[in-house]
Amino acid sequence: IHSVTKVHRIACIPGDGIGTEITEAAIQVLTTLQKALGTFELDFTHFDWSSKAYLERGWYMPPDWADQLRKHDAIFFGAVGSPDVPDHISLWNLILPIRKTMNQYVNVRPTRILEGTTSPLANVKRGDLDWVIVRENSEGEYSGQGGISHEDTPNAIATEVSIFTHAAIFRLMHFAFRTALSRPRKHLTLVTKSNAQRHGMVLWDKTFAAVAASYPAVTTDKMLVDAMTVRMVLQPSSLDTIVATNLHADILSDLAAALAGSIGIAPSSNLDPERGNPSMFEPIHGSAPDIAGRGVANPVGAFWSAAEMVRWLGEEKAADTLMKAVEEVTKAGVKTKDLGGSENTKSVTEAVCREIEKAL
Ligand code: ATP
Ligand code: MG
Repeated sequence: IHSVTKVHRIACIPGDGIGTEITEAAIQVLTTLQKALGTFELDFTHFDWSSKAYLERGWYMPPDWADQLRKHDAIFFGAVGSPDVPDHISLWNLILPIRKTMNQYVNVRPTRILEGTTSPLANVKRGDLDWVIVRENSEGEYSGQGGISHEDTPNAIATEVSIFTHAAIFRLMHFAFRTALSRPRKHLTLVTKSNAQRHGMVLWDKTFAAVAASYPAVTTDKMLVDAMTVRMVLQPSSLDTIVATNLHADILSDLAAALAGSIGIAPSSNLDPERGNPSMFEPIHGSAPDIAGRGVANPVGAFWSAAEMVRWLGEEKAADTLMKAVEEVTKAGVKTKDLGGSENTKSVTEAVCREIEKAL
């Protein structure tokens, strides 16, 4: 009998600003994890696809970018963006093409209050807030359709067309119901704006109801997105799994992260549930130019994203060990400023590495 060490090939796109800092930190903890466990190997390839590179050479990704990414089992992404490049340029040249081409049609965003941390709201206690937001990741408000006439004149008219298809909503709903089913509460909340938007949002309502019939074990309710923000703040414990459109879920997940303590802790997984392409894992925050280069970014969102990545690759024990280590560290008060602490990226990273080594 001989044991085979599984090798997972990871494409790393650190990007810009704190994206590079937190990616480096994540690689450090993943490397520590891999050495301590000894049951798998991670083989990282770095891609310098960033706004900084774009400003120097005029392009984000080379023509064969999709083939290059497909040689990997997963993608780890930091954050992309620069004050000198409009955000829609980086979004439409990098992150959106990757999500679309790699068939990453769901974006899973878990949020909870970690040990040793508190919500900025006094009424929200640890354990009250434990949510998974399932975001539609392929179409809707981000379908890119529309145009502008009379540009740069006072008569300018622009359209921004949202496209919603039954096929995309249907596959998303199945994923959302399966996610709800995997959780202790088994509750799914649909978020739309179907009182004001009578085509796409009504298709969401109908598709949700039809798919719900296949999951009798899941309890459901429906919220309009405006009322949802109020419920998240005032009755967090009434929520569990949440499914929403590309735009709505983007906004709600920033709110969720802030309610849970900081945008710096929240992870996201861009998944191809059919596993025909590599999935992509990234913290939800951006490149944060205001704090970049100072070594003070909270790396926890990147660590949590890394844990979700190794979980997706089948390394359950590694994922659990990493999250346990992160919470030991926050519990001990080793936290960056956004969480009310006085530590930096390096000291938090080293503390997590020590916890991993202690645990194994
Ligand atoms: P994007 O357009 O890329 O989404 P953004 O404009 O939403 O970016 P972020 O980069 O996410 O902005 O930053 C929002 C705020 O949160 C900034 O003040 C930033 O410093 C802070 N922030 C974001 N990520 C972190 C982090 N990991 N640690 C500490 N603070 C953070
Ligand atoms: Mg943002």
